[in-house]
Amino acid sequence: MRAKRYLQSIEKNEQRLLQRLQELVAVESPSEDAAAVNRAMDLVTAWGVAAGASVTRHPQAASADVTELWFHGSTGDSDKPLLLLGHLDTVWPMGTLAAMPWCEAPDDQGRARICGPGVLDMKAGVVMALEAIAAVRENGGLGRPVVLLLNPDEEVGSPISRPHTERLAREAEAVFVLEPPQGLPGTPDDAAYKTARKGIGNYRVQVTGVASHSGVDFTRGHSAVLELARLLPRIAALPNLERGTTVKPGVIGGGTRSNVVAAEAWAEVDVRIARAEDAAGVEAALQALRCEDPACTVTVTGGINRPPMERKQGTVLLFQRARRLAAELGIDLKEASTGGGSDGNFTAALGVPTLDGMGAVGEGAHAKRESILRDELLPRTALLAAMIANT
Ligand SMILES: [Zn+2]
Repeated sequence: MRAKRYLQSIEKNEQRLLQRLQELVAVESPSEDAAAVNRAMDLVTAWGVAAGASVTRHPQAASADVTELWFHGSTGDSDKPLLLLGHLDTVWPMGTLAAMPWCEAPDDQGRARICGPGVLDMKAGVVMALEAIAAVRENGGLGRPVVLLLNPDEEVGSPISRPHTERLAREAEAVFVLEPPQGLPGTPDDAAYKTARKGIGNYRVQVTGVASHSGVDFTRGHSAVLELARLLPRIAALPNLERGTTVKPGVIGGGTRSNVVAAEAWAEVDVRIARAEDAAGVEAALQALRCEDPACTVTVTGGINRPPMERKQGTVLLFQRARRLAAELGIDLKEASTGGGSDGNFTAALGVPTLDGMGAVGEGAHAKRESILRDELLPRTALLAAMIANT
């Protein structure tokens, strides 16, 4: 089936797509507000049910539900499903919509933009997925079954949804991630699909010294703040940019008052690795940190919580297929890697072919200027449909 056929179906349903997107953006859904995220789950679930999907919702004690929408295929449900990964939580607190309302307006280059909290990351991606599935069903039907997984906690590291993502990925033929493509300068054609992402670690370096009065007992004190200051350049020297490893102390703290020799100081350290095999080396280097002052101690806690999505053969084949189908739609699809993580890191690490960045084209995720390009919405949805139909 030519990709253009899907585009025609999607164009016919453009109003439904835009209206749903506006409705979904109007339901604010910060990760930490389970009731709010569940309202967004309810809305998308209702759309899925109306389209004939079977729903499995997994209620959670500490977050909104993890939701699976199953669309049955013509080859029978014994065929390996295709897994589409979406999340319905956003980074935006309740009430953001008042200051950052839904808008449709041209930008300074005259391109029509749609803005609103979570519109790019990734409410548009979820709405696009439903329209893409509808277009495939309208033009010959789904082959293998498709499951759209809606996660409630991606923006806080996916601690609740990760086991569900991994369970479904293990059974899946391939995984499509509905995150926005990689924003690159230039034309929207540079909005690239992602075939690699770095793994992400968070570490805490905790220094313990000996407190004393800075005036009365100056020599008895052993300053944790001073020791941390000595450790920071050593931490900053750990990156290996050639291998794609970065290590960055992002937040530091310590001490209680200026007239007290500090007993405690700490740093939160962000670690990124391009290859899974590099995790142990970074971990060992951080664990090997020692204080110069023998009266002070350092403890390092934390670890790699998203494994890297490495550029593997199965994913490359998916990208090549996408590039071919994109050409039918007049899109010169590019391939990119990124230092940022997504739920695709988990599925790729299991060896399941994973293509990421299949959502809406735009810019400003997690930023006040968050917006999508309206003219890219339908072609990218058609490309997603063509990929669903051809996988
Ligand atoms: Zn996202």
